[in-house]
Amino acid sequence: MWISFTLMAAAIALSFWVMLVTSLRLNYKKENLETLDRMTWTAMREYGTSEFFNNLKFIAGGESCFIQVLSEENNELLLSLDSDGEKADVQADGIIPDDLFKLLDENAGCYSFCVEDTARNAEWAVEAIVIAAHEGSREVLILSKLLTNIDYLLHVFNTRVIYALLIAILIASVLSFLITKAFAGPVNRLTDKAQQLAAGDYKVTFQKEGCCEVRQLSETLEMAAQEFNATEELRREFVANISHDMKTPLTVISMYAEMIQTVSGDNPAKREEHLERIITEVEKLTGFINDTMELAKLQSRTWEVKRECFDISHLIQSSLMSFEIHHELNDFEIEQDLEEGLFVNADRKLISRVLENFLSNALKFSLNEKKITISAKKENGDVKVSVRDYGTGIEADKLPHIWERYYKVDPYGSNKAGTGIGLHIVKEIMEMHEAAYGVESRMGDGSCFWFCLKAVQKTER
Ligand code: ADP
Repeated sequence: MWISFTLMAAAIALSFWVMLVTSLRLNYKKENLETLDRMTWTAMREYGTSEFFNNLKFIAGGESCFIQVLSEENNELLLSLDSDGEKADVQADGIIPDDLFKLLDENAGCYSFCVEDTARNAEWAVEAIVIAAHEGSREVLILSKLLTNIDYLLHVFNTRVIYALLIAILIASVLSFLITKAFAGPVNRLTDKAQQLAAGDYKVTFQKEGCCEVRQLSETLEMAAQEFNATEELRREFVANISHDMKTPLTVISMYAEMIQTVSGDNPAKREEHLERIITEVEKLTGFINDTMELAKLQSRTWEVKRECFDISHLIQSSLMSFEIHHELNDFEIEQDLEEGLFVNADRKLISRVLENFLSNALKFSLNEKKITISAKKENGDVKVSVRDYGTGIEADKLPHIWERYYKVDPYGSNKAGTGIGLHIVKEIMEMHEAAYGVESRMGDGSCFWFCLKAVQKTER
């Protein structure tokens, strides 16, 4: 980086120098001739006035040029001023061409040119202009300026400019070294940390240092590290939970299988009881595996919400019916408060999964009062569905956690708790629908789980 900066400074300096030299070579004569032209015309305007002579003196001194006024008659020199504005003789032989008046005729009375002065190893820029004509004889104003030899000028210029440019390159190089050091330090540290992260050290922290972009990068990497860390923790938690949730039923299954083998094999009633237990544990295991797979599918974001317009009350009734078929509603009083014609635009299968979860939890966590109230009502343009039980209820401080994955209020104390995945699946489904959901619950009073979906007209899709 430092080398690139230095090379860049050198390239800028070189092009600057080339541009200066080229423009000096190309424009030096031209600009001098233009200046002479301007001065000549300025002087000419004063001709005939008392200021003419003073003005000429001023121009000669100010512009360091020689001024002559020549008469056509016998080529008589009427006036000659040197570059200090003092009266002088002709400044050099051979500068004013012999055929000047002919050249003036050919150039409409104004002629400018450059001429070599071998004696001085220099060149003159000359401008001649006719300022008066008396009875066939003309008077010509001639301004001439000695041009320094351009090669000499460039030599002088080069020695100075090249030194200045070398110093500029040196300063640029030192500055770029310091800037690069200040920039590269944090980047190098960031790279080390990023390599640690890549090697699996998710606890690595990225310091916010360096310039704005580097800071942004370190913030992004910090976020990535936190994300990796969280994922890693989730993975560990997931493995631990899976191990626990699978190990318990498997232990029970193995225990009862052994009991059938050794104790209850010849006792049909006992054997039946033990087999029943094994079947229950296998069902639990299957439920757990199914829930885990369903959640993984939902979270993979490959699940497409297949929205369709349907009557939510019909869906509730068909959910209740499938519970009835499996005799799960035995002994339960089901109170239905369902408004007619409540249409929603949602994924029927997913919403049915939510209802199923609310209902099975209500059944599981009901105590002596075996009653469930299920309602569907229109509320502020939404359809609000709620499932209320009169069972255990949930402690207020536990309520916010019940939507978390694997969370069970009473994980080991009650055999009612399942996988702790159900409500997390509900949360995922509701978020996929961008729908509101929640629970109201009081210990001993029971719980009311609810969700809201936007009410739509029957035909709306
Ligand atoms: P689980 O399979 O354990 O029921 P959920 O995610 O559906 O998993 O529920 C998480 C926890 O929330 C349950 O273990 C239970 O402690 C609590 N819970 C859910 N529904 C109810 C309810 N209706 N009454 C009391 N507690 C409930």
